[in-house]
Amino acid sequence: MPLNFWLSLKIPSTSFLSTDQYLGKVWLHKWISRFIVLASTLHSIGFLGKWIKEGTLQNAFAFKNFLGLVTFVGFFFSVFISLKPIRRKFYSWFYSIHLAIGYLSLILLEIHSRPGITLFTLINVGVVIYSVVLKFLYTYETEINVLSQDESLLQLIKISAPFDDTINQGCHIRIGLFQKLNPLHYLTTSHPYTLIQTQTNEMVLIVKKTNFEFIKEQKYTIFGPFNSSIPPDFDHNVKNLLLVSGGSGLSFNLPNYLKYFRNKSINLKLIWIVRNIKDLWILKEFGIDYNETIHSKKIEIFITQSQTGLLEDDETEVGLMNDIEMPTIEPDLTKSRVNFQRPNLYRIVSDFFNNNPNSTSTSDYLIGCGPERLNNELQFLGEQNQVKVISELYEM
Ligand SMILES: Cc1cc2nc3c(=O)[nH]c(=O)nc-3n(C[C@H](O)[C@H](O)[C@H](O)COP(=O)(O)OP(=O)(O)OC[C@H]3O[C@@H](n4cnc5c(N)ncnc54)[C@H](O)[C@@H]3O)c2cc1C
Repeated sequence: MPLNFWLSLKIPSTSFLSTDQYLGKVWLHKWISRFIVLASTLHSIGFLGKWIKEGTLQNAFAFKNFLGLVTFVGFFFSVFISLKPIRRKFYSWFYSIHLAIGYLSLILLEIHSRPGITLFTLINVGVVIYSVVLKFLYTYETEINVLSQDESLLQLIKISAPFDDTINQGCHIRIGLFQKLNPLHYLTTSHPYTLIQTQTNEMVLIVKKTNFEFIKEQKYTIFGPFNSSIPPDFDHNVKNLLLVSGGSGLSFNLPNYLKYFRNKSINLKLIWIVRNIKDLWILKEFGIDYNETIHSKKIEIFITQSQTGLLEDDETEVGLMNDIEMPTIEPDLTKSRVNFQRPNLYRIVSDFFNNNPNSTSTSDYLIGCGPERLNNELQFLGEQNQVKVISELYEM
């Protein structure tokens, strides 16, 4: 249990004891939790079998034993609601319930266990206190400014964040609604968004409209920043860099694009697969005119929905309350590399890396950020072409 609590810690990259990113450890946290449930199932079955055999089943309802049974049911329920279809549909419920069960189990197990486990309980409580202290110390209030455009599914959120140049590209922050003196700040989930530092040092988020709304007058808090999965030696090694983004996954790749597009020693290409033509305004807000030669050679856009830009799915229902409405910019599609089709990623990846004479396995990177299927396809193509693949999934 102490290891499992430790693995669930979110340690900001600017803090003392900062480790690599917590997202990379979520799978281990999940598997250790499953192992704990398996072990407690065997433990419960063992005792129930023993009591049935001895004809003393009433032992199961003795106070201390019963608390063990309650903990077991709680653990089992936690693992059940963490199954992908349930977790993804009810993420915030899953998060708060599994956290509450975890905290409650510390008290229940301390009473239930014989011989005592006070040392482990103290370690666990220490880790929980540490997580609260971290969240208290590294949470900041922020002002937000919302930029959006009619019919676009994406919006830009400008925030004020007290971070300096130490943030790495692709790092994220977690945004919440509760102030840090409110207990709910510690018991509910915050929402992760990738931070983009613009050339004018503004902090901006590219946000897909979902249930979690950004409303201008509302107060928000920022917790973080957190390291991304881009390794520390990346800037030093990279020579050929193919960035592939789907929709709001552009936010993960844009920091690298902005950093390297003028760098002549790096062979760079950004592929952006986007459903709606009306989302292209986002690039202009970052000073990227994809018709300009410097960008048009390095950016290729694939629009996968209708050319009229009319939305055809239920995502149109997301409102635009209190947003600053940006004027509609009609892209000049005659000059730029905007395609109205799905990309042939197999061809794009192999052309990019194989047509480059300076290509080596240590200097070639393929960075992907988009839906799970896109990330998996890029992983496969990267392995096929023997390049390093880094990908980030915007879902838990
Ligand atoms: C590391 C990381 C970086 C991200 N960066 C961006 C970004 O730059 N731009 C962007 O538009 N989106 C980003 N996301 C996704 C964004 O956090 C979710 O879309 C948002 O939290 C959805 O909130 P919701 O309440 O509207 O969820 P819902 O619309 O109810 O759920 C949609 C899906 O979002 C996921 N989700 C919901 N809440 C959370 C949460 N607290 N933490 C993680 N996943 C959650 C679940 O998988 C769920 O299936 C990022 C996610 C991660 C993990």
